[in-house]
Amino acid sequence: MRTYAIVNRKGGVGKTTTAVNLAYVLATSCRLRVLLVDADGQANATQILLPRGEYAGLGALLRGYAMCYDELTVHTDVAGLDVLPAASDLWALDLEAAEGDRGRSYRALRDMREAMEEDGAYDVMIIDCPPNLSAACVSAILASDAVIIPVLSDACSVTGVGDLVDQIASLRSIRPDIRVAGILVNQWHRSPVVEDSVAYLREEGRVPVYSTVIRRTDKVPESSWARMALQAWSPWCSAARDYRAWAAELLAKEGIQYEQA
Ligand code: ADP
Ligand code: MG
Repeated sequence: MRTYAIVNRKGGVGKTTTAVNLAYVLATSCRLRVLLVDADGQANATQILLPRGEYAGLGALLRGYAMCYDELTVHTDVAGLDVLPAASDLWALDLEAAEGDRGRSYRALRDMREAMEEDGAYDVMIIDCPPNLSAACVSAILASDAVIIPVLSDACSVTGVGDLVDQIASLRSIRPDIRVAGILVNQWHRSPVVEDSVAYLREEGRVPVYSTVIRRTDKVPESSWARMALQAWSPWCSAARDYRAWAAELLAKEGIQYEQA
């Protein structure tokens, strides 16, 4: 099983949109068995993929209340796509972790991943992270093979990426093989500042930047408003097609085999 954390300390850059659309495309077009883990207390990905309701979710796992992942994972309407939901109890985790056993919460997701690997339960796990390096986010990074960083293509977002890459690298003391798989440019549109920022990121060359960019379109906020995955809301809009092209680029770069649906 391959595991990717979608990380950026900034909010509103497209982490949730990317996590949901990647999970959706891998399950539908690529026929992979996918688990999307919602690690953000705002629970946006959970709200998009699951009906309203009370879910125990990741908070229970990180606190050590649930010992089996299948008590927590929920099937979606999409064949092959399950969700480990989030609830607002994730917020309190950092306060508890400051007093209690931080190591336990850091290990919980890794232990879950190992159990899933033993069972052969999923092909890919995608973790939608909160906009900070909280306990949930650090647990997610430590459980992952690699991190994917969505960015908005403006100067401010682009210059912050270096700091984030350093912070991820500092986790190598605990997880030596963690890497950044790539930077995904989101809300791309034709404008000098966007094109200059993307050129800067590519030239800087510290971390690979995916050749596919996700275009800006009002269909994305419309789909967020409707609480639907963009792939279901407007499958032929520019960003939906871009996400399918990017998923193919990612699978090729990561060497993940799949059958085209
Ligand atoms: P994050 O999870 O990083 O906070 P979201 O995925 O929730 O970011 O996206 C933040 C906002 O930006 C949402 O309202 C979403 O609809 C919008 N958005 C994301 N990607 C695009 C895009 N390609 N074009 C237009 N709006 C987008
Ligand atoms: Mg989000």
